[in-house]
Amino acid sequence: MSKIIGIDLGTTHSLVAVIEAGLPFVIADADGLRLTPSVVHFSAPSTVLVGRPAQRMRSIDPQHTFYSIKRLMGLRASDLSTTEHRVAYTVLGEGAQPVRLAYGDRSLSPEEISAEILKKLKADAEASLGETITRAVITVPAYFNDAQRNATIKAGELAGLTVERIVNEPTAAALAYGLHRLNEKSKIAVYDLGGGTFDISILELNEGVFQVLATHGNTRLGGDDLDQALVRFLAKKILSESSLDILTQPSLLARVREAAELAKIQLSSESTVEIALPFLTPEFSFSFPLTRDELERITREIISSTRAHCFRALSDAHLEAKDLDQVILVGGQTRMPLVRECVSEWFQCRDFEATPGSIRIGSDYHRAEGPMLNTSQNPDEAIALGAAIQAGILSGGFKDMLLLDVTPLSLGLETLGGLMNVLIPRNSSIPTKAGEVFSTGIDHQPSMLIHVLQGERERARDNWSLGRFVIEFDRAPKGVPRVGVQYEIDANGVLHVLARDIKTGREKIVEMKSAVDVGDEEVQRMVEESVEHAWEDINARRWIETKLRAQETILATRKGLSDYRDELDEVSRTSIEHALLEVENLIRAEDPSTQSGEVPALKKAHAQLDEATQPLADLMMDRATTALLRQRGLI
Ligand code: AMP
Repeated sequence: MSKIIGIDLGTTHSLVAVIEAGLPFVIADADGLRLTPSVVHFSAPSTVLVGRPAQRMRSIDPQHTFYSIKRLMGLRASDLSTTEHRVAYTVLGEGAQPVRLAYGDRSLSPEEISAEILKKLKADAEASLGETITRAVITVPAYFNDAQRNATIKAGELAGLTVERIVNEPTAAALAYGLHRLNEKSKIAVYDLGGGTFDISILELNEGVFQVLATHGNTRLGGDDLDQALVRFLAKKILSESSLDILTQPSLLARVREAAELAKIQLSSESTVEIALPFLTPEFSFSFPLTRDELERITREIISSTRAHCFRALSDAHLEAKDLDQVILVGGQTRMPLVRECVSEWFQCRDFEATPGSIRIGSDYHRAEGPMLNTSQNPDEAIALGAAIQAGILSGGFKDMLLLDVTPLSLGLETLGGLMNVLIPRNSSIPTKAGEVFSTGIDHQPSMLIHVLQGERERARDNWSLGRFVIEFDRAPKGVPRVGVQYEIDANGVLHVLARDIKTGREKIVEMKSAVDVGDEEVQRMVEESVEHAWEDINARRWIETKLRAQETILATRKGLSDYRDELDEVSRTSIEHALLEVENLIRAEDPSTQSGEVPALKKAHAQLDEATQPLADLMMDRATTALLRQRGLI
């Protein structure tokens, strides 16, 4: 069996790791470097630079240098109109077309650009191991949706790799930290602040199996944002000293950004750095002493914005910080002392010495109070090492250990009245399957539209539309056709939807490959909005359900009235007409923008209609009984 490599395809950096002699290690490139900047430079006609050489081109030839490309993976052009993406390329394509990026007279997809990074990692691994590599495990942020996961698989294929498994980054990190050696039922938080993404996940160890209890995060938050904040601060200083506006000059901006990031990194171990930018213009050199305190003042708000996600993940997992055993830190940005302080404070961690090899596990670990902040692993390498461990498990070299991930958002389908019917709730462990039987709401409907939705909102229209397809069946009165719908999420997080007409066994299976209609920042916004709109959503659901029941009664009553109009006494008829009007008016008064109305009033009017139709119902029952008796020859 050929070796499987583990790849951390990061927003700012990528790494490749492998298991050798039973141990995972990160592979260095020809220059002895283990972190490959996720930067690609194309120069005409066909020269491609990847990593550090491409990084250098960022300030010299920014138009042909692609970075943070992970942010664009699996997106459609229309996603970008609503997405604040900070990638400075010319984006081609319109509407539902996949994003393509202009370069010279050619255009490239994000997958093609990512594939260049993967090709380099593959080549580094082959040079180091002395064998051809064709299989890989690649990690993605927990928030990646179907389209983004599929784009990652595609990038692997373009690089000549079979992607054996897509693994969520926090799950890989926990493996690398060796947390499977903790006591049973240990609970762990993985706080991952990288260059471009933030994830917080809560895991539980159960019979040697990692289970992700909850995951939260922001796919558009990371070290880059801190750099950006510092750049803005420096831009103001530069402007005040020289009236030079670097924000409008890409090549100067790139130089300042590089200096800002370097200063930020140095301030993790030093208390002051001198930011020196000689000859920004022939007449102007800039230099500024930046203190750690000042950097913390500039960036505190960005770091604090991760706090709410931490608490939401805990609450989704039905846990409090004190229930956790460990909090592990992943991602280069967690080297910043302020990040460690904040995380330690939020999770009420007890003091912990960050000496590698000092993880206290098993029985010698007695928690005084609060979880342990575990910083024993190199935060840049943990994910790649975990990917290698997963690769080792797949190729059989490592003891079997099942990995369970969770779905970041609920999956469901649209039902009558435009409501979201959840089949697989958010934070379900994957792989998973769930199904339900649905019927028709209209007589003689020839088919049913399966509208696949992802999200946390009560109304279909507020969720993501992942796709639609139609299943046909024999026409029959409403409620008679029965269609079983099953959702299955495979180990890679890809959704397969099956719809089967129970009567004929006719079925359709659709893999949800299409890009979603909303940008990836919307994933996180979705969860926030569901909390924000919880009250309004519940009201809308109650309204729609009440309205549907009332409409059923209206239909039945109208039919009864027309069939038995002459037999019904005047008083009953008037009172039914009056009650009907009352219900119809309330339904008509629905506010179209919120799809909501007066639930208690409608319920009351519906009850009054029920009461008013009693004589009609009695009459109908009487006639039906007579007809039946007559039919059977009993009268
Ligand atoms: P990652 O995506 O995990 O490679 O994280 C990269 C991010 O971590 C970048 O924004 C880096 O600037 C940042 N970073 C790396 N090392 C340090 C450090 N020592 N102190 C602060 N930030 C760092």
